[in-house]
Amino acid sequence: MRILLVEDDPDLTRQLKLALGDAGYAVDHAPDGEEALYLGENEPYDAIVLDLGLPKIDGVSVLESWRRAHMATPVLILTARGAWSEKVAGFDAGADDYLTKPFHTEELLARLRALVRRSAGHAAPSLSCGSLRLDPRAARATVDGEPLRLTSLEYRLLHYLTMHQGRVISRTELVEHLYDQDFDRDSNTIEVFIGRLRKKIGPDRVETVRGLGYRLIALEGEASGV
Ligand code: CA
Repeated sequence: MRILLVEDDPDLTRQLKLALGDAGYAVDHAPDGEEALYLGENEPYDAIVLDLGLPKIDGVSVLESWRRAHMATPVLILTARGAWSEKVAGFDAGADDYLTKPFHTEELLARLRALVRRSAGHAAPSLSCGSLRLDPRAARATVDGEPLRLTSLEYRLLHYLTMHQGRVISRTELVEHLYDQDFDRDSNTIEVFIGRLRKKIGPDRVETVRGLGYRLIALEGEASGV
């Protein structure tokens, strides 16, 4: 999952980038409204954390522009304490959730998990596909109850595939949702990661659909679904 973090406070930015990275997200950062506007319109994020008090263009205006452009990405806004009118303006502009500063990083992570999950159409907190099970709270996965040893990129890949199980996902889409913008994005590396993932979860769980991409499926005899 790839997140855009829009925040102008350098300390908070450092802290959040670290926490989001540890939680398994690829993170892009925008320090002002102008860059946020540009990135949000041009990159396919799975969720956006948007501070409202920003240099150049304020957060509410940024959000309004995104929604006018029909950008449907879930947005969590960060508001200053006591500024209830900011919250109202944020929701009116199209925010999906909010947190008031100061907040606990854990709460931000929990809210983001819920946002990402709901926007992909899943109501339950854990995800499964047959006997494959993912717990996004702990960034862990199991097959038949056996824990898998995954690198963070392998976990991200599996998370994305599980979230969109049954649908064919192109390499380009995977690259866009797994890597941040500074990463050297070579879509050939996806094939390598799919290969490694197959070794760990079983070769038949990830189908290759020639010329189109990959699809996560439940094995025959397993119940599919979430
Ligand atoms: Ca600010």
